[in-house]
Amino acid sequence: MSISEDFSLLFNYSPDLVSAAPGRVNLIGEHVDYNQGLVLPFAIDSVTNCALRLRDDAKILISSKQLNSGIYETKSSDIVPKTGPDWTRYILGVLWSLGIDRGVEILVDSEVPQGAGLSSSAALECSVAFALNEALQLGLSRIDLVRLTQRAENDFVGVPCGIMDQTISLLGEAGHAILLDCRDLSPQLIPVNFEDNGLRLLIIDTQAHHALVDGGYAERRAQCESVSGIFSLDSLRDLSRERLAAKGSELDSKLYSRALHVVTEIERVKSAVSSLQSKDFVGFGELLNDSHKSLRDDYEVSCPELDCAVKISQESGALGARMVGGGFGGSAIALVKDGDMGLIASLVERGFAKACFKSPRFFDAVPSDGARLIDRRN
Ligand code: ADP
Ligand code: MG
Repeated sequence: MSISEDFSLLFNYSPDLVSAAPGRVNLIGEHVDYNQGLVLPFAIDSVTNCALRLRDDAKILISSKQLNSGIYETKSSDIVPKTGPDWTRYILGVLWSLGIDRGVEILVDSEVPQGAGLSSSAALECSVAFALNEALQLGLSRIDLVRLTQRAENDFVGVPCGIMDQTISLLGEAGHAILLDCRDLSPQLIPVNFEDNGLRLLIIDTQAHHALVDGGYAERRAQCESVSGIFSLDSLRDLSRERLAAKGSELDSKLYSRALHVVTEIERVKSAVSSLQSKDFVGFGELLNDSHKSLRDDYEVSCPELDCAVKISQESGALGARMVGGGFGGSAIALVKDGDMGLIASLVERGFAKACFKSPRFFDAVPSDGARLIDRRN
């Protein structure tokens, strides 16, 4: 059944329109966003759809096909940060940051797996924001929507995320990644044509979620701030490898390793862009491998499941593989030859079973368009 049919059954009227916004994968540039570094995400072809109808009163009715919790109801005047059941906050937060003061009915349905590091949260926020902007003809640009959806997640949901996920979900273009400079937030489209070159990007969701996620993340951020403080810099973006090495013996060894990851990872993003531009996919794959090693050994945010997925992929013919996202679980990516996809997936599955890990899930990541309108009732 289509989302419009589901909507009609649930709310008794057809939706005014239906929007779509994708999840994303970050090719390279991990744990550098909060160091004002460079990231290279692309929008994937899995989307979250939002069907929406404006009401004549102030009632807000929201529902998700992923949750069997019926309809959540509130009033536009009652929307205040950090209220409502957890999942509703991503939607209420967008209504709040866009300043919506009238009633709406919203049904969302998503193909983006939750909590796998593919940013189902941004896909949800951006599909709702895009739908509201169209239905109410607010005239907000995509860049405006990036800022407003990030504000929803930061200030309403209470998650201190950077700007990457919303940027790529709204500004992504098929066949391209976006090189995003997290210092000045300037986005630059970079062609990514794996498929034309007989390659595919395999996403391996390890389904592992280790308890370290929140504490580990906060600790890494604080360590990066300590090092930039020691060098009297605003962020590690301005630290060169030479300057870090020159002071290496005076620095605490953990702090040194953390900074080394950030400095080398930013260099790797620049090299990755050159590799993609010159279609040097072997070189690009090596950068993915180096990124994983750095995240595992210097930044220490990997885990046995991620290391297992990456190692098996590398040993089975992948051009490169690495963990993606915050770490301590979540997903890995592997750049593989078209014909090897099934084989590598089954070898990873077997390796996981042997190690008694939860069964992994696999997705095929194709660089796709950002948020869009897919249906409108006249
Ligand atoms: P990620 O963005 O990596 O998938 P997050 O923890 O940031 O993980 O966001 C996941 C949360 O977003 C879910 O726990 C849920 O609250 C909310 N969410 C995402 N997609 C949906 C959906 N389709 N329906 C309801 N809630 C959703
Ligand atoms: Mg998220």
